[in-house]
Amino acid sequence: MSPLIEKMLTLQDRDRRMLQLLREQKDVPARKQLIETRLQAHRESLKASQEEIKKHTATLKNLEVEIEAKKNQIKKYRDQQLQAKKNEEYRALEHEVATVQKQIRTLEDQEIVAMERMEELQKTQGTHQQDFQAEEKQVQAEFQALETRVQNIQHEIDQMRAERTTLTAGVDATWLARYERILQKTGNYAMVPVEKNCCGGCHMTLPPSVIHDARRGQTITSCNYCGTPSPEGLYSRRRGCGRMVAVSDANRGGRKVRTP
Ligand SMILES: [Zn+2]
Repeated sequence: MSPLIEKMLTLQDRDRRMLQLLREQKDVPARKQLIETRLQAHRESLKASQEEIKKHTATLKNLEVEIEAKKNQIKKYRDQQLQAKKNEEYRALEHEVATVQKQIRTLEDQEIVAMERMEELQKTQGTHQQDFQAEEKQVQAEFQALETRVQNIQHEIDQMRAERTTLTAGVDATWLARYERILQKTGNYAMVPVEKNCCGGCHMTLPPSVIHDARRGQTITSCNYCGTPSPEGLYSRRRGCGRMVAVSDANRGGRKVRTP
């Protein structure tokens, strides 16, 4: 294989790595958003349980106030009983007291149920609080790791950009321009091997002349006229993928130019 082809294959390895890094860099905001969404879900669960406790606290308070008012009512009746002149009046007040006492018992029963419910709500809130804190810790760690990754990516990209000038030195300008154009278009391989007489990129049969040139490993040819031989032995002039076909067998450049 010509040193030039070897050089371009190395360049392709590096450029593909660069494309991969750029894609990863582009994905970072979406990944951050995904992590943040996860935390937000926990935050909302916690907030909902806190709201429910707040509402239930008000219910309990209302019950307490109501019971207290009823007890005061009884005190008033008792005072009135002390002032009562007639037996009838006394008995009527006694009856009122009994009625209010019954109401207090009903309210106290409600209070017990409400207090039990409060215990459940507090337990749920505790669980949500723990989950949120654990998730928050996890998210912080993930953000930190992502931040480090972002720095590493940038560092690698900068380094590769600096080194690329050396790698492209001596490469024919026309080849390089064409190679870059194809790489840009495919977002993957610009140079592919011949695989079983087919183009390693689009898998269409290559004409013998292209296979011959590629096998010699001295020049870069291209998949421009891929096609299958007609019964007359002629190639249909279908347009190929345009990739540069440079390496004849998988054992030589194939390792580097394997199709995805
Ligand atoms: Zn092709």
